[in-house]
Amino acid sequence: MQRVVTAILSLALTVSPSFSSEVQSELESLRKQVSEQFSGRKPSLWGENVPGVRTRLAVDEKVIALTLDACGSATGKGVDTRLMDFLAREQIPATLFINARWIDANPELFRRLAANPLFEIANHGLRHKPASVSGRSIYGIEGTRDAAELVEEIELNARKIEAINGKRPRLYRSGTAYYDELAVEISHLLGHEVAGYSVLGDAGATYSAAQVKAALLGSKSGDVILCHMNHPESGTGAGVIAAVPELMRRGFRFVRMSDYPLR
Ligand SMILES: [Zn+2]
Repeated sequence: MQRVVTAILSLALTVSPSFSSEVQSELESLRKQVSEQFSGRKPSLWGENVPGVRTRLAVDEKVIALTLDACGSATGKGVDTRLMDFLAREQIPATLFINARWIDANPELFRRLAANPLFEIANHGLRHKPASVSGRSIYGIEGTRDAAELVEEIELNARKIEAINGKRPRLYRSGTAYYDELAVEISHLLGHEVAGYSVLGDAGATYSAAQVKAALLGSKSGDVILCHMNHPESGTGAGVIAAVPELMRRGFRFVRMSDYPLR
């Protein structure tokens, strides 16, 4: 046990050297409390749409939430400057799901984006792991191994974001957007709504610009679009830039996910 505690404390230090010892012991007790609360419970569901994952805005108006993930893997630390400049220039709100590793790779840019009220900063985890209490994998990526590791995954990035921009994120989307139902409960305990999606905008930044545009033009009232802001080499930027003006001509307005209740 002592070894685990030491490992967690050094992790907290690595993630944010500014965490005081008071905060570190608070993190440790949170981790322990959640572990105890969930010990002996086994999840039975695993997927992107388990109950409690919010995939749409609860609204009948013609509004759409564009969400952009920044995942921070070895090949995912980039930024689509053309896309982000377009959104800022055209005043298109978006919700940015940011992973801790991406923040470390782009600290100045993160500060700038977080300071722009157009953009809501949301939590995309510490190490971009699928949200599991039993280490389940998806796409060959190992999920968090237990409740304690999931607490670190969510809470340490939430605190990292809050330490930089003064605002704790309200929304969490796991790496890969996979959850078991206990992971959803733990997200809620940590004050996060779980943010799914209803329009697969770029299929992990693998779509061509034409495919992205076609996917976005299929949006309906209340949809949540999932795209990526960390792959400038992909078709995502050009596809979004082509689709947004057309959707606005059709009477849609873009909003941040937290602007409306979710369902
Ligand atoms: Zn991601």
